[in-house]
Amino acid sequence: MKSVKHISSFTLFCFSISTLIAQECSVIKLNEQVASNNISKAVVDPLCIPVVVHVVYNISDENISNDQIISQIAALNNDFNLSHGFEADINADFQDVAAASNIQFYLAETDADGSSTDGITRTSTDKTVFGNNDLFYSANGGKDAWDDSKYLNIWVCDLMPGISGYAKIADSTASIDGVVVDYKYFGTQGDLADDRDLGRTATHEIGHWLGLNHPWGLGGCSSDDGLDDTPLQNEATSDCGDANTTCGTTVMHQNFMDYAADDCRLFFTNNQVEVMRTTLIDPRSSLIDCNGTAGIAKNETRSLSIYPNPTSNWVSINGVEAHTDIKEIEILNLVGSVIKIESNARDNERVSLEGLPKGIYFIRVRTESNEVYTSRVVKI
Ligand SMILES: [Zn+2]
Repeated sequence: MKSVKHISSFTLFCFSISTLIAQECSVIKLNEQVASNNISKAVVDPLCIPVVVHVVYNISDENISNDQIISQIAALNNDFNLSHGFEADINADFQDVAAASNIQFYLAETDADGSSTDGITRTSTDKTVFGNNDLFYSANGGKDAWDDSKYLNIWVCDLMPGISGYAKIADSTASIDGVVVDYKYFGTQGDLADDRDLGRTATHEIGHWLGLNHPWGLGGCSSDDGLDDTPLQNEATSDCGDANTTCGTTVMHQNFMDYAADDCRLFFTNNQVEVMRTTLIDPRSSLIDCNGTAGIAKNETRSLSIYPNPTSNWVSINGVEAHTDIKEIEILNLVGSVIKIESNARDNERVSLEGLPKGIYFIRVRTESNEVYTSRVVKI
């Protein structure tokens, strides 16, 4: 396995690559511990992050819908787990370094007071646009962060023209720790900016929040991001041309940490996954919580007995009272999206999880009499 180079310098990045492509600014400090860790390339355990989205709006357009927010969470899970459906479009030169992180995101279900929440806050503000830290403070027209040791805070608002989003590093002041994304660049539904409509601004910024640098480092062929499997790159790119080369090598413009259009950016690399997982395990370990139910089980109290759990590829079902009355069995992901339906399953028949990435899923059984049974299952 290739090693991860040591980068310890504190750097500030804020680039504008054209008047048409939004600026993405970030403060980054790669975790020094990465250099000394000999992390396995194989990803085993899911690392799950509860998210709170703070919508701070001045006009109704900025008060984005729950569906738009949920679409962003789904996009994050697809991007971070290489399951967005366009894996085959990854440049052949980089197929072997593209990697799934098994980092998963879900909207928080419990707030700091222990009360139930949908993981979304909404704050009306007199501020017409944000360009400074007022966004992070309720007293200044923004919204106070939730405990950054328990939640990934994502603020969504109207940012100054030319800025799509930015992120804070792991050792930032708690009150400003998190990610900021302009409302026109957030999610995959709603009134979104051209070429920024697949939620990859948030994917990019969370990459920074988990310790990643831009592939071009500070710019120029003598600067790097500290990772061996992202090639040297002279500067940010804004197109998807496969033939582009800089610094004597093919540009990896499909990397989530570049600036190309959303439909061009498709993957993180193995080394980038190592950095993100290391940053999450330490210093952000307190955030990891894979006990979320994605709002599924708590609304469907009839429990379902399944075994084995955890499982590597299938489960059997028990616990449904009307065994012969099963209408259909659904498999849902951590954010509650149905990813597979089996309409001919019966009690004790195996439900296959083959082909699904390792992680947390829900098995939901519906009967002909409209009873619903749900259970959480971990695929290992
Ligand atoms: Zn960036």
